[in-house]
Amino acid sequence: MGRIRFLDVRALHLRHRAGLHEALDRVLESGNFIQGAQLEAFEREFAAYCGAGHCVGVGSGLDALHLTLRAWGIGPGDEVIVPSNTYIATWLAVTHAGATPVPVEPRLDTYNMDPERVGAAITPRTRAIIAVHLYGQPADMDPINAIARERGIKVMEDAAQAHGAAYKGRRAGSLGDAAGFSFYPSKNLGALGDGGAVVTNDAALAGRLRSLRNYGSAIKDRNEHIGFNSRLDELQAAFLRIGLASLEEDNARRSALAARMLSGMADSGLVVPVVPEWAQPAWHRFVVRHPARDDVMRRLAAAGVETMVHYPIPPHLQPAYAQTPLAHACLPVSERIHREVFSLPLYPSMDEAGVDRILAALRA
Ligand SMILES: *Cc1c(COP(=O)(O)O)cnc(C)c1O
Repeated sequence: MGRIRFLDVRALHLRHRAGLHEALDRVLESGNFIQGAQLEAFEREFAAYCGAGHCVGVGSGLDALHLTLRAWGIGPGDEVIVPSNTYIATWLAVTHAGATPVPVEPRLDTYNMDPERVGAAITPRTRAIIAVHLYGQPADMDPINAIARERGIKVMEDAAQAHGAAYKGRRAGSLGDAAGFSFYPSKNLGALGDGGAVVTNDAALAGRLRSLRNYGSAIKDRNEHIGFNSRLDELQAAFLRIGLASLEEDNARRSALAARMLSGMADSGLVVPVVPEWAQPAWHRFVVRHPARDDVMRRLAAAGVETMVHYPIPPHLQPAYAQTPLAHACLPVSERIHREVFSLPLYPSMDEAGVDRILAALRA
């Protein structure tokens, strides 16, 4: 019996080999490599998929978040509320805009931002909240949107792990004022390289982002803003259209595998993912928790099951923030999560036998 790989990105993309080759040919034949028909088509298709009016392709998920904060005019002196428990890119977007990340602790059951703690973190300087749908589990958006509306601040979804996840029947990307997506190759919708997008119903914001991603220029030879070069190129857009066509099927497969995993884990001794009744997760990661995490991971590895930790070090304890007051933040919930969680393999090209082997290894 072979090992159960944590994730096989090669196999994930090789499933679409023929389609990807045709997409490459289409772009090559068109002679148009930046901001052409493929990008336009992908933006239209992905906005429709998310149930939103606009999609603006950019260079990465980090840029999607960063450029949106810029487009909102958020900068030095401003505060942006972020989850304490997230991938560091959420925080970096705020820092790159020149603003200050203000971490809010998650709920221990869902690992997502605790809406009840958001109010206390708001100050007169707060301009936005970034809610992350961590591991593909939608954040509890209604109370977060309600607080934001009351205080007149923006809400951005960090949907980098949540393509196709839904909250109360509405898809990620349509749940706040704007959403940032990543198309890093291992995400639920991944390119063959870097890519990202902002999805929004705000036409003015979309227009500003189209300019910001392209040197601050919406009309050729006219530069309105101090812009960036952060575009989603034609090749990646064409590849993403192939992946988007099977995203629903992939996510359904992830859900079926997750259900099988959950039903077999009742007596495993692990804290398993909690799915609120309003959540339809995208199952980007299947994350469990145990106080003796490292020991459990070692034993699973010996039984041939690869696991990973998402994430071993919280953003506030990273060297990147060591010289800032954030390094001294008191965030015990996030620190405990980072000490205790680990991720089991779960991806569309895995089969039921794979799940059963993981379950058998857990029981042993
Ligand atoms: C992957 C990820 C990002 C960053 O996306 P990139 O495309 O790698 O820049 C941001 N936030 C979260 C939660 C992510 O998982």
